[in-house]
Amino acid sequence: MFGDLFEEDFSFISNNHCGKGKKSKPRDSEPPAPRDFTNLSGIKNQGGTCYLNSLLQTLLFTPEFREALFSLGPEELGTLDDSSKPDAKVRIIPLQLQRLFAQLLLLDQQAASTTDLTESFGWNSHEEMRQHDVQELNRILFSALETSLVGTSGHDLINRLYHGIVVNQIVCKECKNVSERQEDFLDLTVAVKGIAGLEEALWNMYVEEEYFENENLYRCGACDKLVEASKSAKLRKLPPFLTISLLRFNFDFEKCERYKETSCYTFPIQINLRPFCEQTEMDDSEYMYELFSVIIHKGGCYGGHYHVYIRDVDELGNWQLQEEDRLIEDKLLRETENAEEIENPLAVLKGIFSEEESKQIPVDQLGQRLLEKKGVSWNKKYRKQYGALRKYLQNHPQIFHFSPDENKVGLKEKQKLLFMSDSQRQDLQSRPQKNDVQWKAEKKPTRLRDSSAGHHWFDLNDSKVQPIKEKDIEKQFQGKESAYMLFYRKSQLKRPPEARGNPRYQIPEHLLNEMNAANTELQKKRVECDSANNGIDLHLHLSSCYKFHNGALHPSLTWKESVVDLTIDRRKTLGDLRQSVFQMLESWEGDMILSIAKPLPAGLHLYQILDGDELTLDGVGLADGTDVFVWNGKEVGGTKVMTGPDHEPVVVNVLRLAEYNEGGKGQHFTESQHVFSCSTKLGDLHRALAPSGGIILKNSAGPDKEAKNWEVFREEDMKETVKSVGLTDGCSVLILDSHDQSFVNVSSGNLTAFTYDISWLQVKNFCRTEDEEKPVKITATIETVMSDIKRKAIRELQLEEELANDSCLRPVSRNGKLLSPVPEDYTVKEAELKMGSLLGLCHGKAPTSTQLFLYFIVGSDQNASPEMEIVVEETASVKECLNLMLEKSGLSGDNWHLRRIDWCYEAGEALSQENATLKELNVCRGDTLVITEGKLPPKGFLKIPIWWFKSSSHRKHGENAEDKVNGLTYKMEALQVSSAGDSPEYIHTDMDLCYAGSIEIAGEASLEDLKMQYVLIWHLLLCHVQWF
Ligand SMILES: [Zn+2]
Repeated sequence: MFGDLFEEDFSFISNNHCGKGKKSKPRDSEPPAPRDFTNLSGIKNQGGTCYLNSLLQTLLFTPEFREALFSLGPEELGTLDDSSKPDAKVRIIPLQLQRLFAQLLLLDQQAASTTDLTESFGWNSHEEMRQHDVQELNRILFSALETSLVGTSGHDLINRLYHGIVVNQIVCKECKNVSERQEDFLDLTVAVKGIAGLEEALWNMYVEEEYFENENLYRCGACDKLVEASKSAKLRKLPPFLTISLLRFNFDFEKCERYKETSCYTFPIQINLRPFCEQTEMDDSEYMYELFSVIIHKGGCYGGHYHVYIRDVDELGNWQLQEEDRLIEDKLLRETENAEEIENPLAVLKGIFSEEESKQIPVDQLGQRLLEKKGVSWNKKYRKQYGALRKYLQNHPQIFHFSPDENKVGLKEKQKLLFMSDSQRQDLQSRPQKNDVQWKAEKKPTRLRDSSAGHHWFDLNDSKVQPIKEKDIEKQFQGKESAYMLFYRKSQLKRPPEARGNPRYQIPEHLLNEMNAANTELQKKRVECDSANNGIDLHLHLSSCYKFHNGALHPSLTWKESVVDLTIDRRKTLGDLRQSVFQMLESWEGDMILSIAKPLPAGLHLYQILDGDELTLDGVGLADGTDVFVWNGKEVGGTKVMTGPDHEPVVVNVLRLAEYNEGGKGQHFTESQHVFSCSTKLGDLHRALAPSGGIILKNSAGPDKEAKNWEVFREEDMKETVKSVGLTDGCSVLILDSHDQSFVNVSSGNLTAFTYDISWLQVKNFCRTEDEEKPVKITATIETVMSDIKRKAIRELQLEEELANDSCLRPVSRNGKLLSPVPEDYTVKEAELKMGSLLGLCHGKAPTSTQLFLYFIVGSDQNASPEMEIVVEETASVKECLNLMLEKSGLSGDNWHLRRIDWCYEAGEALSQENATLKELNVCRGDTLVITEGKLPPKGFLKIPIWWFKSSSHRKHGENAEDKVNGLTYKMEALQVSSAGDSPEYIHTDMDLCYAGSIEIAGEASLEDLKMQYVLIWHLLLCHVQWF
């Protein structure tokens, strides 16, 4: 079974490591974490090496192993320092293992690295690092060690500690000849499937006999014939350390796949191996073993994780569980244990049988016993899941034994052994028993050792080490996470008292020195790191590099040049800081005051003075990155500096209504930043920003500048301060001049218009004509009334207020012409004024809304008669209007009538109804009328203007006529004219077009009559007759 143990191929474990040397690893800036309270070191997981870590910890906590290893000195193993020398004989694996053990015992770090060790195995790649099976590794490791210790005093180290012998015997029934075969082992592999625990497995292997009988007979060498014989195996030699591997991984031949056996498999803390050994006269204590390590596999058969429970035999670790916690945990555990036991009918039944004096119980009484002893009814508790009781017993023939008539049932012999009491066992074994070890695996293991010395358990899980209770081991009896390898040590092995709690015990001098040095280095690094972690950077601002202006301190140079960084331990005192600053500044005269400074939007501002040199920097709240101002505590550059939160400078964003388009497209504000101390009275701020009569509004809602967000500061607010009214850095205030205040509803304190509707009109003074005056901009919305604009304009133009009574606003056309005055009660919208357009402030009253402003000329020759203006009631009759105009133009007599001006600026349709009102005749504001000489044409006559189209061949003949229409041809666009009865065509403005005069003709005249008239004119023109 174990015959091939030493025949493994270890060729991949290279023993030649010369030339590799020590790898120089980059130093981590952070030193490794120290050990935690257990004071035991874990081992880093290098990537799938948890199995290796579990095994290494087991070996470390086998003091006899590690001491044997440590006993091999440099004279036998060489030294790692020589490993690069070509001729040196250096045994790398034991040396690396020694060093790793020394680190695990002494180096103050949370977890050690196995890189050097695995390199000594020749494992360099991740591939080689990949999870091996821990049982496999155990053998590989032992073999590698043996190989590398050949020729040293340690050559039999593994054998001494782990080697055992099994003997297989066949006894001939006839001649009693015994045939033997010995097998060596370093570990025992025991079956799990269908077996309740370790003792049962050992019983099957080393107590049960196999018989050769009937057809299957044994050929005895002595008798030289086929005989009946018995075959058995026994443990002949027990090693000091017994390693047991559980066969949890099996192969399911039906499903053709590996699987992990997760069934319950118990194992005792202490075990007496005598029943499994050859009979000797040795003392029973020679057979007692104690569990000291359990390697646990968590996961399935294709992967998972290993960790190990280890008993700290030498009491190296600090094992402490709070007594209270322990009591509570114990109680909980007991309860769950009971519950678990009750859940498992096999355990319950076994328990009943073990307590029975008689060997067998009638099957029909078993149910009653169950109820009596355990308080459960089979039918209620288990029947649904496990079936009838009898059936259940029959289904477990390896445990239960029926009487021949099948009426009684009992435990099978080997099961009984596991449960029997001491006296029973003594009877059975007919051998004096000197100890009182119990075998009841189902029951709690008896605590033989009330003194807890050397019997504390830890869970070593890679880097993590945690104390556990012995009882926790029972959690690993079954399940996905369960015990996989067991390590027992002979109970007789005693530890010397000087080894207790002494991790330095038996470690060779050179390793002690190396670890001491490494710990010193670690300590130093931790101090450095600690100091670095406690170091804070302070930004020192020197007053000599600063000037105070605009409410705050500003560096004379750049920020960078004015700041000196100082790194200091936060645990130092203010006095230390002051000393450091003194040392940095070569000369400093007078008091040195250190003030906390803070860069604000307005500049650097000073806060409290750092006072109390005995206080620590941490204590006064100096954090990393704090700004500290170094000064004399009074002034900077001759200016007194106010400090503290009450004098914080605040940058206020000041908005004013921009002049038209000043702020770019859609920007109605100009913005500027002003700095005020937060203690500034609002009244002072008002005086500084707003003109007399102006008002200040605060944007109370948000960044958008809509009217609803603006709030007026009222008179009573003026005693408040910038801080108390909530003006902080970046707040906006809007300054409105007095004339802008029509947008403010003072009662509600809000703007009445959305500020984006606010625009401007330009007003220019036309009352004085001597010098060119600049227009002023007057804010307005489309709802602003013209009289308001006029009043504001008069104020802005600094004209006399009385002018308002005798002036009006008149739009100025693009070519500078004053257009019809706008009625004063019109809004900008009603007046159809475009924002930004220019208005002229002119003498004369503006027409009321019932008045008409009219232009008029005398005759149709503009040059002869300048255009004149008149304001007349719209209810005036034509006659009255004519008389007013005649009066204004200094004409008299009644040989005049009024005509409208037509589209070519000629006298057009006559206003023939002299008594009709202007309103009735739809005469509109801004119309031009022509005073025409002569009586009105008879009623019913029309005056029709005649144009003629001149072909290019006639161009030179029509030059005079063409001059006549100079400047008016643009009005001809898209005009249709039917010439000489031809089909209509478009007249283009670049064609020659002549005004030929007008024809007066009766309204009733036929088209034929009109044509006759045209023809007449046509001939006149052809004959070069000047028609005019
Ligand atoms: Zn024989």
